[in-house]
Amino acid sequence: MLLLRDAHNRIIRDLRVSLTDRCNFRCFYCLPNGEPPLARKETILTFEEIERICEIFVSLGIEKIRLTGGEPLLRRDVELLIEKLSRLKPKLKDLALTTNGHTFPRRAANLKRAGLDRVTISLDSLDRENFKRITGVDALENVLRSIEAAKQANLTPVKINAVVVRGRNDDELLDFARFARERDVAMRFIEFMPLDSGHEWTREMIVPGKEIFATINEVFPLVLRETSRGAETAWKYKFADGAPGEIGIIAPVTEMFCGACSRIRLTADGQIRTCLFSAAEYNLRDVLRGKASRREIIEFVQSVVLKKEARHSINDAEFAPASRSMSFIGG
Ligand code: SAM
Repeated sequence: MLLLRDAHNRIIRDLRVSLTDRCNFRCFYCLPNGEPPLARKETILTFEEIERICEIFVSLGIEKIRLTGGEPLLRRDVELLIEKLSRLKPKLKDLALTTNGHTFPRRAANLKRAGLDRVTISLDSLDRENFKRITGVDALENVLRSIEAAKQANLTPVKINAVVVRGRNDDELLDFARFARERDVAMRFIEFMPLDSGHEWTREMIVPGKEIFATINEVFPLVLRETSRGAETAWKYKFADGAPGEIGIIAPVTEMFCGACSRIRLTADGQIRTCLFSAAEYNLRDVLRGKASRREIIEFVQSVVLKKEARHSINDAEFAPASRSMSFIGG
């Protein structure tokens, strides 16, 4: 089988597909300044185009597809796309979705029925007022309902993403750990990355992964699940006392893991990004709409993969943030 191998001998197995650049939350670490300029409708890939691209990627060895955004559930009839993508199984081993959970509870069962395997839900605070301050929306209860809905629909293991930011929610680490134990979910703590549209990120706002670990480990001792994390972004821990739930720590800034990166991204307007922090994007949409043959599309994708950066440059003196925020790139 033809595989996507980059110039640093990494095999690309994981495709993140952004379905829209629109979002109904205004998280301060992503979209702090209201509505960003949105892509013109005609530039957004249709479901047919996404399906065609995904089929080609899967034929090139992609095993995991994660649908994201923006808020992917703002795209009408996502269930139809999921149904189409799930036909790519069993070569496609994992079809997942990342959501803020706002409209999720009433859609969970249909998403599962359509073929979704699992879901990651973002949740940055367990305190209603703080949740509102962080996201701009009074929706904590709804998001909590989403977690239960995901479990009931068997979209498991349910993962919860929390971006930890100094002075904003780092006082909630133990509450989150308790939550993981009580609700039997996998918490993922993520270091704040310079992907906010306001470019207000500073190093002082980062809570290093090691500090997150130490704070939780002191109260709820943790045991590493595996000594190698492979291409996964998180170090995963279970609770030493055997309680349910899991803690994952994703520290892309203070403990770079680019050497094992197997990811590639497709933006809602059809640009391939080889790294979250890439300065360049590669226009797959125009190739596709230019009536390229399957062979030509494959050659284009292969040539882009060969340009994948060896590592991100957040810690370099000359680092410049990506021009587009996480909401556009697709988290
Ligand atoms: N709307 C969906 C959601 O809220 O999960 C999917 C898109 S969102 C961009 C995907 C993930 O990126 C979320 O878990 C979010 O917390 C994370 N994210 C956004 N901006 C970030 C940043 N500057 N640093 C770290 N993670 C970020």
